[in-house]
Amino acid sequence: MIQFENVNKWFGSYQALADVNETVRKGEVVVVCGPSGSGKSTLIRTLNQLEPIQSGRILIEGQDIHARKLNLNAFRSRIGFVFQQFNLFPHLSALDNCTLAPIRLRGLSAAQARERALALLERVGLAHKAHAFASELSGGQQQRVAIARALAMEPPLMLFDEPTSALDPEMVGEVLLVMKSLVRDGMTMVVVTHEMGFAREVADRVLFMDAGRVLERATPDDFFNRPQHARAQQFLRDIRSPFANA
Ligand code: ADP
Ligand code: MG
Repeated sequence: MIQFENVNKWFGSYQALADVNETVRKGEVVVVCGPSGSGKSTLIRTLNQLEPIQSGRILIEGQDIHARKLNLNAFRSRIGFVFQQFNLFPHLSALDNCTLAPIRLRGLSAAQARERALALLERVGLAHKAHAFASELSGGQQQRVAIARALAMEPPLMLFDEPTSALDPEMVGEVLLVMKSLVRDGMTMVVVTHEMGFAREVADRVLFMDAGRVLERATPDDFFNRPQHARAQQFLRDIRSPFANA
């Protein structure tokens, strides 16, 4: 589904991605973790063409997504992307947030889009909020609408960049539950997250990044119990006992 081939990216003279070579197969769930500033968001944003790369290739379903001839809007509208900030239109209802892109970009009729959106809102447990303004919903509810909105485009692939980091703790679970239901349905997912419980439970593979490099790729069991790289060992110590060195 995704292939990174020798991908390098610079911001000016700062190298944000260095020699990334990774493959994600259809149906796989890959969790990306690593310290702040290690390049996790940059990596995931290159997959959506939100960031250009300076060398290497990224293929999604065999298509070179940084090729000049790519129809960017058509491509981007197909990849589901859920951010830390939900980015819903606050003055639109949950339902309208989910029908807008399918009507405008996929040419669905209003009735078709509405039917599909209602089914998706039901799926994320928010059928009863279909007509509420996004601004009237809690953070967890907004993030679930954001997931429904992404699914409305029938993406072959869902990208998540710290989807629960901006939420109050009591709302993290409901969003993770929805994400786990996508895993069960076989969705291909790349997830940047600090939710190590989620990684343990559902990831096929964990990638650990530091300073723009993928230093380690392992099953969750190997990563959490037998991390190989010194930086990964340190990272796991830091998240397990953050005050150890304080
Ligand atoms: P992470 O998501 O792992 O916290 P990022 O991918 O956001 O890390 O950032 C990786 C590095 O690239 C950081 O050092 C960050 O400061 C830098 N960076 C990110 N975006 C930009 C940008 N638009 N311009 C310059 N530097 C950037
Ligand atoms: Mg980030």
